[in-house]
Amino acid sequence: MKTRRIVIAGGGAAGFFAAIAAAETDPRAEVVLLERGSRFLGKVKISGGGRCNVTHACFDTSELSEHYPRGRRELRAAFHHWQPRDTMAWFEQRGVALKTEEDGRVFPVSDDSQTVIDCLLAAARDAGVRLETRRPVESVEQIPRGFILRASGGDEFPADRVMLAPGSLKNSPLLESLQALGHSIEPLAPSLFALNVKDPRIQDLAGISVPSTRVGLPPGGRPQSGPLLITHRGVSGPAVLKLSAWEARRFQELDYRGEIALSWLGDSGPDDVRALLDGQRESQGRRAVKNAPVPRLPARLWERLVSAAGVPSDLPWARLSRNQANALLGQLTDARFAVSGKTMNKEEFVTCGGVRLREVDFRTMESRVVPGLHFGGECLDLDGVTGGFNFQAAWTTGRLAGLALAKE
Ligand SMILES: Cc1cc2nc3c(=O)[nH]c(=O)nc-3n(C[C@H](O)[C@H](O)[C@H](O)COP(=O)(O)OP(=O)(O)OC[C@H]3O[C@@H](n4cnc5c(N)ncnc54)[C@H](O)[C@@H]3O)c2cc1C
Repeated sequence: MKTRRIVIAGGGAAGFFAAIAAAETDPRAEVVLLERGSRFLGKVKISGGGRCNVTHACFDTSELSEHYPRGRRELRAAFHHWQPRDTMAWFEQRGVALKTEEDGRVFPVSDDSQTVIDCLLAAARDAGVRLETRRPVESVEQIPRGFILRASGGDEFPADRVMLAPGSLKNSPLLESLQALGHSIEPLAPSLFALNVKDPRIQDLAGISVPSTRVGLPPGGRPQSGPLLITHRGVSGPAVLKLSAWEARRFQELDYRGEIALSWLGDSGPDDVRALLDGQRESQGRRAVKNAPVPRLPARLWERLVSAAGVPSDLPWARLSRNQANALLGQLTDARFAVSGKTMNKEEFVTCGGVRLREVDFRTMESRVVPGLHFGGECLDLDGVTGGFNFQAAWTTGRLAGLALAKE
């Protein structure tokens, strides 16, 4: 005889982790997981290019939280209870062998996201979770003894406790219910996108990757470092995706138009680069500047930067004037590019914005506005950069919500 009913809307990463934790913690509770689509865990399936980047091997919770442009402070506290080490142990104990790649991203050894899906489905079934697909929840209403969730088609699901884990709230019918229940929603904006840039300096250089760059959205802001990839449409790669996350709201305000500042030599300051140019002048004096690139810069890109700096194509290093060196320095460390739009990153994207974090208790993921209502995952105003951080936020918030849902 089941004593209580817990209903979770959203069969993604956060919903599954919550459902499993709740059902395993309180086997007397009936745990129902409602999924809008015909399959569970659709995003897990396509994640990480079909390999599912489950989490990131960063075990210092303060350092880990720095990868979240939104939700940093709240997640730092939550990671004390459930962090990547716990996620990895959880999957490994259930038979999913994991591997950590050089950059810290964690994948199943199978390189197949289906392994992760099979594990979550089996764990949910073993714990006795009632799994229902094709149940798009359209509204949540509070009643004197709990809640009623209404799905399209007229199905009603009474519940003692509810968790909402529907992923991005963009175009979600649940937005209206959340507002009616008294929740505030931080404006929604896409995060993790590439930038469209049409500029002769990078035209026809698609496929070239520059190992160490720094890119910012002046004025102010927080420049991001890392590899950059020149694409057919502009620029992408880790540094650009990170910038798109940290500046998601500013980019949206600018309607994805504006000017980025790019250093092709990462965090090297003007003095370092000036020393680098002086070194070239001495060691490569007789060679044409255009034909003797500084280290770590692809030759074709270097040629473009030299010509953009107005350095004649046959000028030898030894005859580079101070003004020409300054122009080259500018092209190398503070090259400005006009952005004309964005292209969503196919590998991973998320929505920033969602349920205001102040209205949620991150120890239990329970609403501070509506007791008995919990949240998890992307519907909250939290999101991370690429690398497994977004799933980690879903596992952590899902786990904490599940444990709290199981408590009387
Ligand atoms: C292409 C792509 C690749 C990605 N790859 C990675 C990766 O490798 N690593 C990483 O960390 N992050 C990745 N992400 C981000 C990651 O997928 C999300 O951060 C994560 O899925 C969020 O989990 P969630 O449970 O909150 O939401 P979701 O996974 O989106 O799950 C929400 C579920 O709720 C269902 N739902 C929605 N509305 C309702 C409703 N009204 N009623 C019932 N059900 C509903 C949805 O159909 C969905 O199944 C990727 C994202 C994309 C788009």
